[in-house]
Amino acid sequence: MALALGIDIGGTKISAALVRYGEIVKKIEIPFVREGIVDELARAIAEIDPDQSTESVGIACAGLIDSERGLITFAGNLDFENFPLRDLLAPKIKREIALTNDASAAGWGEFRYGAGKEFSHMALLAVGTGIGGALILNRSLVLGAHGLGAELGHLNVPGANATCPCGLVGCVEAVASGRAMERKAQELGFAHTQALADAARAGDAKARQLFDEMGWAIGAISGRLTNVVDLEALIIGGGFGATFDLWESGAQRGLRENIVVPALRTVPIFKRAQLGNDAGVIGVADFAYGKR
Ligand SMILES: [Zn+2]
Repeated sequence: MALALGIDIGGTKISAALVRYGEIVKKIEIPFVREGIVDELARAIAEIDPDQSTESVGIACAGLIDSERGLITFAGNLDFENFPLRDLLAPKIKREIALTNDASAAGWGEFRYGAGKEFSHMALLAVGTGIGGALILNRSLVLGAHGLGAELGHLNVPGANATCPCGLVGCVEAVASGRAMERKAQELGFAHTQALADAARAGDAKARQLFDEMGWAIGAISGRLTNVVDLEALIIGGGFGATFDLWESGAQRGLRENIVVPALRTVPIFKRAQLGNDAGVIGVADFAYGKR
């Protein structure tokens, strides 16, 4: 395999990496501002691959991404709406560009080179400030008709009534994301989620209850998703996924209470992600390479 190039557009910086078989050979990070994003991407690509040794570039970005048309359909944190990133960037770099959502990229990375290697039907739940999702079925990344699919963070938790930043009510992101847990922690008098996690690990009943409810919500949507697509595994990633030990039992309960005939079937397993912050660049580089 030749080198593949992956880029992850974060909130304030661009990470660019040259990747071979899931191993990062070289990586740079450069800051950018929204208005200069096309030029900064071209600069990052020229800097990391001055000899143009790659034929394709994979770009991952948070938000709703129309992979088919190369658009950032909606990225709230960067304030983009139907932004034609691929068509603006392509003439500057003269290589094929594959654009996808950051969680889908991370899911593909985990499937190819991380915690998902042994599975053919898996989902990634990237539990961070929000909750991103990726879906891999029959060893293929599921993006839907326009690339807008696999928004697992906006699956509905039974009985939940919190309003999500997306405008819908009861999304798992509104109940069990880092942002949602921050708000609940503060309502209980904890300064932040780290203090909440410390208290839970020390045995504080209210803190443990909050994590249990968080886990139940994630388990519930996992069960409902499994009813539709019969998953083997749910890979838990994202920064807040590091608290998984505190909500694993809640997730198992939520899963079993929302899956059809759990006693008579194979129930999917939860498993921690393995590639950390690099999952996105590794995944999107491989995704773009495979699309050439
Ligand atoms: Zn939502």
